[in-house]
Amino acid sequence: YVQLLIDPVDRLLSWLDELQVGMASLARLLGVAEGRSDNPEPAAEVPTPVGARIEVRGVRFAYAPGREVLHGIDLTLEPGERLAVVGPSGAGKSTLGRLLAGVYQPTAGTITVGGVPLGDLPLDRLRTEVALVSQEHHVFIGTVWDNVAMVRPGADEAEVCSALAAVHALDWALALPDGLATTVGSGGHQLSAAQAQQIALARLVLADPHTLVLDEATSLIDPRAARDLERSLAAVLRGRTVVAIAHRLFSAHDADRVAVVEDGRITELGSHDELVAANGPYASLWRSWHGERTPQDTDEPLADT
Ligand code: ATP
Repeated sequence: YVQLLIDPVDRLLSWLDELQVGMASLARLLGVAEGRSDNPEPAAEVPTPVGARIEVRGVRFAYAPGREVLHGIDLTLEPGERLAVVGPSGAGKSTLGRLLAGVYQPTAGTITVGGVPLGDLPLDRLRTEVALVSQEHHVFIGTVWDNVAMVRPGADEAEVCSALAAVHALDWALALPDGLATTVGSGGHQLSAAQAQQIALARLVLADPHTLVLDEATSLIDPRAARDLERSLAAVLRGRTVVAIAHRLFSAHDADRVAVVEDGRITELGSHDELVAANGPYASLWRSWHGERTPQDTDEPLADT
């Protein structure tokens, strides 16, 4: 697995991006310390429009010098839009997601929200703009309370409980041996994968970001549990801009638009219907996927190939 082979700083950053929200900002701070970014902490009064348009212009990115993995991405996301990102493994989908979440800075080009470069946003504003939901590390060693409230340390009981209730996790969380004070994560009370996901989703509800980047957040969950999680996720997605990367719970045909990423470029962009009609790469991905599924499975995602 690629992330196990990379150098320690990248490994730390990869791990940190799983923490999403505030932790994405920490990764950025580390990036500054490592000379990876020339964006020091900006002035506090950057005007950040609420749920503004996100514009990606000429974005290139390399994890290591000379090894570019994104070769010029252009994309505009309107507030509230739902974009599915599909394409072959290694094409750069997760990398694009990390850039959209501010975990990494583009090597070239810009990502702006309401005209303000993502890298210029104060950390607390970045946190309210975008959160990354990634496939591992949903729960950290600590109490259930800490796992939810970590994105807003001053949160009160009503806020933490209503975040858990929004994702249908409050009842089982209160029934744990020590309720919300139960320690979970490695060595703590064992949660199911679905419960861990619900904790992560409750954290998102509390963080309340305008944009969510979902990166195969349920790939480790069995299909039945995934279906149960669907309603939890629906509560979280409501009213937000969503970028879903090959997401099990967010099939491409539910999205407003689909971006096909191949070899570090967006090769197709349009609605599901438009792209099926265009009969290009998306249409063949869609057909090959449909060909191997039974009709009752058609709510499953468009998986990578
Ligand atoms: P998948 O569907 O398999 O997750 P993807 O389309 O999301 O693939 P990325 O994970 O963005 O693709 O990877 C794009 C390229 O960048 C690949 O060549 C990958 O090996 C490389 N890569 C990804 N993460 C890192 C990292 N942290 N350090 C170095 N190279 C990386």
